[in-house]
Amino acid sequence: MADRLVIENCAVATVDPAGTEHPAGHVVVSGGLIEAVGPGPAPDALARGAARRIDAAGHLATPGLVNTHHHFYQWLTRGLAQDHSLFDWLVALYPVWARIDEEMVHAAARASLAMMARGGVTTAMDHHYIHPRGGGDLLAAGIRAARELGLRFTAARGSMDRGESQGGLPPDFAVETTEQALLATEAAIDTHHDPGFGAMLRIAVAPCSPFSVSTGLMRQSAALARRRGVRLHTHGSETVEEEKYCHELFGMGPTAYFETTGWLGEDVWMAHCIHLSDSDIAAFARTGTGVAHCPSSNARLAAGISRVPDLLAAGVPVGLGVDGTASNETGELHTEMRNALLMQRLGPHREHALTTRAALRLGTAGGARVLGRERETGSLEPGKLADLVLWKLDGLGHSTIGDPVAALVLGPPAPVTLSLVGGRPVVEHGRLVTADEDGIARAARTEAHRLAALAGLAS
Ligand SMILES: [Zn+2]
Repeated sequence: MADRLVIENCAVATVDPAGTEHPAGHVVVSGGLIEAVGPGPAPDALARGAARRIDAAGHLATPGLVNTHHHFYQWLTRGLAQDHSLFDWLVALYPVWARIDEEMVHAAARASLAMMARGGVTTAMDHHYIHPRGGGDLLAAGIRAARELGLRFTAARGSMDRGESQGGLPPDFAVETTEQALLATEAAIDTHHDPGFGAMLRIAVAPCSPFSVSTGLMRQSAALARRRGVRLHTHGSETVEEEKYCHELFGMGPTAYFETTGWLGEDVWMAHCIHLSDSDIAAFARTGTGVAHCPSSNARLAAGISRVPDLLAAGVPVGLGVDGTASNETGELHTEMRNALLMQRLGPHREHALTTRAALRLGTAGGARVLGRERETGSLEPGKLADLVLWKLDGLGHSTIGDPVAALVLGPPAPVTLSLVGGRPVVEHGRLVTADEDGIARAARTEAHRLAALAGLAS
């Protein structure tokens, strides 16, 4: 193949089902797919005539990271409501978020995507649930940004229709009608969804949470997604307050509520899922419902520690999520592997909660499974998409950690020497190659100031 890329002389963590690793190995990429992976140098027949051959000594090759939960627009409201728990944090920020427009979301999406790409994310997702009247097509703004930066992308068309007057948490001016939400969600599927192998863009149906969405919209969203063959996403069981809210309003806990509204299933994944009982976990396992674990956001909002070891032991699909950057200001996913491991070890399973390999799996193959893309990405195996990252581990931060996976997960954030999405370079030598980082930073700052001024915040 004319575009064949050969990467050699690096450690390789394939994250295949057997967890195969090579202390010194090769990865060969052609036609946007992984052609070969193995120990030692690449086979001569493949290496000969390669368009590009990289000596990756001092590096670890892994699958590209898969982010399973995010809210791009929050890039413009980082560092606010610093000492709040979830409900107070939301109430403080809803009025600001209700002022966003297309230009703001485009700038925020580019910044969010750039930050993740620089940290090894190759598959991104955005859960966008605030659609102010007159704000433009905010879902399309995120989609445009992902296309510009070259990341694989799931755009989850979010919605809220339960305002304060209906017993919900968001102010009435921040919500849509049920009909508006459903029509716009179906239109997004019509316009953007690509179900094919290797798709760069998928749409998911994603009403926001039980406390901001009517039961009718939950049910009809599930029906819409199943009629159109797309995945379902929402927030679930994030706080004790949410659990209390569900008991008061619905007479049952969040998981039972999700089950009665059609929201458990192998086509569903939910963010957080912290406050789960044993029987809730069994319901997730029985139905194949996936979980996006967001440890930094959960800590920032004092939401609690998700029972990840118990979920994994039960066979529940679990991936990692950055979550919105108003509750995880770093905006990075590779640090979530470390934070997941550290925080889980503070829980009841202590030092046995998560290994470094398990943390890497959450960030790669686990995430791919949660997004329903395990046959395409999340591991380095021949025939899968060439979504991969070369992490530089011979510098100051990592050179004395002999185990490359431990260096990646436990060490400081590792520089990305090369990141490929479908074989196309997105990052080289730590810099984005698809966009100008400084320009992205300036535009995001300008839009953050414009939003702050509109919302009457001092900045
Ligand atoms: Zn979220």
